[in-house]
Amino acid sequence: MIMPIYLYGTKVWDAPAKKITKFDDSLVGLIRDMFETMHNADGIGLAANQVGLALSLAVMDISVMEDYASEKPLVAINPEILESSGEYTLEEGCLSVPGIRDEVTRADAIRVRYTDGNFERVETELTGMWARVFQHEYDHLQQKFFINRLSGVKRQILKPRLAKIKRNEIRSRYPVVALIDEKKSR
Ligand code: ZN
Repeated sequence: MIMPIYLYGTKVWDAPAKKITKFDDSLVGLIRDMFETMHNADGIGLAANQVGLALSLAVMDISVMEDYASEKPLVAINPEILESSGEYTLEEGCLSVPGIRDEVTRADAIRVRYTDGNFERVETELTGMWARVFQHEYDHLQQKFFINRLSGVKRQILKPRLAKIKRNEIRSRYPVVALIDEKKSR
């Protein structure tokens, strides 16, 4: 099932992501739906709060990118970043912040711990693109967006565009929920 993607400014982003404690069929179904939603929107990562659920869960799949075709999808339940090192800068976008892309500096190697899609605990090191996507999704679970990592000047410039996102005036190729839609339905 394709779910609508909750944009920057919606209420779900006010709630901290809760740790997942029930590993059951409904979690399997949610993970499947999140992959379907992400692929439909041509994304490479999706956090649960992006589909309106304040849960500590993210799915990622970078195999659609050139040079990464053989990479397997990754499910991260209750992810933690234990260590990080190095840094590099790359342009990022986000399904919850449509129409905005900018360069973000992040660690290029991270040591992480999470529960995977088979409900097994994993501790591993991620580098390059995997480290990048993991940190982007991990940020979402801390109620953050890549734009929070930009300079104050850059964020100031983005303000009118972010206001448009809240009013749902950005045309996107996938179903979305904006702040204005939440206000209407109350
Ligand atoms: Zn994002």
